[in-house]
Amino acid sequence: MFFEACSAQQRLPAPSRVSAGPKSQLLNPFAYIRKIVLFLLIFSFGCSGMEQTEREKLRRANCKGEYIYRSKEDFFYPIAAPAHTPRAPYPWESESNLPRITKEFFRCKGSPLNPPIVDASDPEKITPCSDCEGGNRHGLPVIHNQENVYPILVDLLNYLQKKTGKRVIVTCGHRCPSHNTYADPAKENRTSKHQIGAEVDFYVQGMEDRPQEIAGLIMQYYQETPLYKADKEYLEFKRYDKSDTSIQPWLNKEIFLKINQKNENRDGDNRHPHPYLTIQVRYDMKTKERVQYDWTRANKNYPRGN
Ligand SMILES: [Zn+2]
Repeated sequence: MFFEACSAQQRLPAPSRVSAGPKSQLLNPFAYIRKIVLFLLIFSFGCSGMEQTEREKLRRANCKGEYIYRSKEDFFYPIAAPAHTPRAPYPWESESNLPRITKEFFRCKGSPLNPPIVDASDPEKITPCSDCEGGNRHGLPVIHNQENVYPILVDLLNYLQKKTGKRVIVTCGHRCPSHNTYADPAKENRTSKHQIGAEVDFYVQGMEDRPQEIAGLIMQYYQETPLYKADKEYLEFKRYDKSDTSIQPWLNKEIFLKINQKNENRDGDNRHPHPYLTIQVRYDMKTKERVQYDWTRANKNYPRGN
């Protein structure tokens, strides 16, 4: 009886089990795939771990040590300290590719296109400060009976181009009195030597932040030029301690040399972000006279157009 009942119970659900099997597999195929992936992952990681330990065991079994034998006479080859080799100049840095500085570079930078400046501190003043008619409409001062600037300025700037292979940018050479007032109306600028062709402001392209090197080269010019040989008044530069600049200027018998830092002495002609140098002529070697500002020379000594 019991056997019969059991067999009956076993027999009864048989059709349902047969039908349920494939249905559950169809419903959840992802579980099957997940199992395979999991198995593969475990297998691969397990294998790689095993391989590593096996490899390490082999390495240790096979590795050998060797002694390095040295004698007392052994020495290491000395390594020479690296020497600085200055790079060869680029072709465009050759002095022959630079335009030679002439008096034309010194022409007045005034322009009739510049708007007049009205003095805000003096509203009663009716006539505003106007710029000149332009450097191409009036000439340079007459020096040694010809329209020119002092030749030492031209010579020094050409020397700098030759020594550095870099271009000298003249920001201010000659200033006629109108442009001098327009560019810098300060009282102390009224006697500027720019007006008599005896002063230049400039910087060297590519060496903008090294004005002291340029100052050194200017002093070197006096050492190298035979004309000044053995004359201490030209070879030795003194310092000038009453300057408006942070670096004390230098002077010898012939020139006065000043470095204007980035934030110093900015005027209408020096609206650039670089330090610049100023050279003033103090002594004319040709006429053997001191060079000083003179109103007549500044105002009457240069040719003007109509
Ligand atoms: Zn001018």
